[in-house]
Amino acid sequence: MRYLPESGTRKMILPSKYVQGAGVLNQLGTYVKQYGERPFVVSGRTSFSKVKARVQASLLSAGIPLVGYVDSVTECTRAKINEVSAKAEEIDADIIIGCGGGKAVDTAKAVAEKLHVPSISVPTQCATNADGMADAVIFTDDHKFVEDLHLSRPPVLVLVDTEIVGRAPPQYIVQGMGDALACAFEKPAYAASQRAKKAGDQATTAALDVNLRCFQTLMTHGLQAKKDVEAGKITEAVEAVVEAIKLQSGFGFGGGGCAAAHAVHNGLTSLPGIARKHGEIVAFGTLVQMVLEKRPMGEIERVMRWCKSMGLPIRLQELGQLDRGQLYLAADKACDPSDSMVCMPFLVTPRMVLDAMEEADKLGNALS
Ligand SMILES: [Zn+2]
Repeated sequence: MRYLPESGTRKMILPSKYVQGAGVLNQLGTYVKQYGERPFVVSGRTSFSKVKARVQASLLSAGIPLVGYVDSVTECTRAKINEVSAKAEEIDADIIIGCGGGKAVDTAKAVAEKLHVPSISVPTQCATNADGMADAVIFTDDHKFVEDLHLSRPPVLVLVDTEIVGRAPPQYIVQGMGDALACAFEKPAYAASQRAKKAGDQATTAALDVNLRCFQTLMTHGLQAKKDVEAGKITEAVEAVVEAIKLQSGFGFGGGGCAAAHAVHNGLTSLPGIARKHGEIVAFGTLVQMVLEKRPMGEIERVMRWCKSMGLPIRLQELGQLDRGQLYLAADKACDPSDSMVCMPFLVTPRMVLDAMEEADKLGNALS
């Protein structure tokens, strides 16, 4: 068969190891030892206070004591990355462990990239799937988006202790599910647009299959997992949902693959008065994407009912104190050429986004 260069390259980016279960943090030392001898932790203060003793004990029992740590990450900024890199380099750290939420693990990954050493992610909550990704989202000190820094490699290990992430405040796992919900819609849209553009990088079928599996897991186990976490129980439903968020949702895309849902999020967060978190706004963005795609009403309603049962927003008024007259500004911003709306497989205009937001809101009101 003749080689067709225009068919692009199927590409998949994954962490080398993914380990999840109750109590697995105690195995950290054994795993770290496979990659380095001078581990350095990058974390936020609250996160690290929860796991510090166990991290240190596990490393010590493997014969590789912690050589240093920074537990002051509150935002993944360029300044913080430089500051932590200098400190880790000074004491000759040869493996970086990111411990906490998205900001801490993103900072850790960026530091590891600068130092040319491997990184490990140890999440302490489930609001994000940043742990296994080969990118770091850079912000300013006051949480303004700067850039999505693409890294040469993802972490060598994502170690998810469900006793820890499952006992974080329940809203985190709900936010994580809201964010993960988008993957079953954004990833196929992104893949289709890459195909249409005959882009160099194409999605693998394997990644798309896993992303769809994530969606099924959320629909099947999401509500039970929420109830179990609220009741302080780590059950099979919780394990299934944690895997859906932490492994399946971004599977194989390495940090790329967003489309309308995240672009709508970025548009909405540019407005004053938004009072919801990333994953919650992305969930609403997913509903807007479904409307843009003209999905069957039954399908939109099913996802909307699920969102409602989870406490995820299905109406504009649930997002915060929005000035409806400014909604067009959010629609404009969502269609910024540098944003992921361009990864939709058809042209999306600000007018279409505005109409879709209004339409999703109308459907949400009918269901409420
Ligand atoms: Zn997201």
